[in-house]
Amino acid sequence: MRTSGSRAAYGDAGRSDASGRHRNPFLHRRHHFQEGLPGVTVRSPFRGAAAHRHPILGPYEAVWRANACDAETRHAGSSGGVLTALSIWNLESRGGESHTVAPSSREPRRAVPVSLMSKEQALASASSRYAPVAAARDVTAMSGQEAVVSKPCETASMRAMVDEGAGPLLLSFFCAGTPNQTATDDVITRLGGEPEDVVKLRYRGMGWPGKFSAALSDGAVVETEYDDSWGRTLGPSVPWRCRTCGDGMGESADLVAGDLWETDERGYPLFEELEGYSVLIARTQRGVEAARAAAAAGYIQLEPVSVEEVLAAQPAQVARRERLMGRLVATVLMGLPITRYQGFGVLRESGKRPRAIYKEALGAAARLRARGYDWAGGRVRPVLSKLRGR
Ligand SMILES: Cc1cc2nc3c(=O)[nH]c(=O)nc-3n(C[C@H](O)[C@H](O)[C@H](O)COP(=O)(O)OP(=O)(O)OC[C@H]3O[C@@H](n4cnc5c(N)ncnc54)[C@H](O)[C@@H]3O)c2cc1C
Ligand code: SF4
Repeated sequence: MRTSGSRAAYGDAGRSDASGRHRNPFLHRRHHFQEGLPGVTVRSPFRGAAAHRHPILGPYEAVWRANACDAETRHAGSSGGVLTALSIWNLESRGGESHTVAPSSREPRRAVPVSLMSKEQALASASSRYAPVAAARDVTAMSGQEAVVSKPCETASMRAMVDEGAGPLLLSFFCAGTPNQTATDDVITRLGGEPEDVVKLRYRGMGWPGKFSAALSDGAVVETEYDDSWGRTLGPSVPWRCRTCGDGMGESADLVAGDLWETDERGYPLFEELEGYSVLIARTQRGVEAARAAAAAGYIQLEPVSVEEVLAAQPAQVARRERLMGRLVATVLMGLPITRYQGFGVLRESGKRPRAIYKEALGAAARLRARGYDWAGGRVRPVLSKLRGR
């Protein structure tokens, strides 16, 4: 079993004496615990192995514009319905098992992890759920016939559990962050609905990008556009961990999908409703083979697309990745823990634009202070007061 990192992120837990023994058995245990936590250290696992490497997009074998061939699947999906089509292909063509998340039948405002048994179940699981849900599985006992769809951070954690090429096919999507659960209720309330009355909820899909839509128990439906639900309420509730995420484009996945739309500078789509397209990136040869097999079997349609076109559709992901160092520095200066990104070229990218990094750090520090954090977690203030009192 591989672990995700070799160093602890918090302090010097795990420091050894000259004989190689750990001085403190508690720190020793904590060190090994942290080594196994992908949230502490995330590696870009294919950086040396993939045929291509782009400083922002990361390592890749192939990049396509893609959509589900089946019109129902394409319509139900967030963008091109590609991840759902791949889950269905894995079930039907490979006779494997597909795992992802879907709305809970008891509480439609919540998502739960599911193992799909049929195309109908896959369609019910399609599209994005902008709320917390754990999709990661224990992949150590899973076979190569299985496929798991999850967020990039979850995919990284599963990738760290199995040797390269082993375990299930790992599918992921571009991710700007997970809004908190109450943000969903806030959108419903703002639209005049009662959260407890919701019997069916979609964040998008059924069009591209599709509307946030909540069906209520009295038959009424409250809905709003994507840029209103995400831009006003869901997006602002994303936690700081996601704002300092360097793996939003899923570098640990075999295949990762995202939106391939024309956007404004914030990343919002410039058009109304169209038939959706996803970008599909194969990060591994296994991903290339799976995508080509699904295309040959008539589940997805693929055509090559340039990296430039993909990045033009993802201004928010590009900006977050280019300026990540500024946010990380501000986070450290506020005395908060950060995730280490190994092999993502964070340092190299920041060296290209020091002024932007500086401005980003100042902005991030101001945002953290507005959230109630203080420089060095408040540890500097008493020292300064003492010095001033002398
Ligand atoms: C929190 C979040 C943030 C996102 N941020 C971006 C972004 O910044 N840029 C971008 O291009 N795309 C983003 N997406 C992804 C995008 O919405 C589409 O999922 C992606 O374009 C793939 O579309 P598709 O039609 O191929 O997928 P679909 O066919 O719709 O399949 C989506 C799959 O993801 C699963 N899924 C949905 N929500 C979750 C969740 N919360 N956790 C785990 N699995 C889930 C579904 O069950 C399904 O299997 C985000 C999605 C989520 C959930
Ligand atoms: S932004 Fe990063 S840390 Fe946050 S949910 Fe997405 S992949 Fe995970």
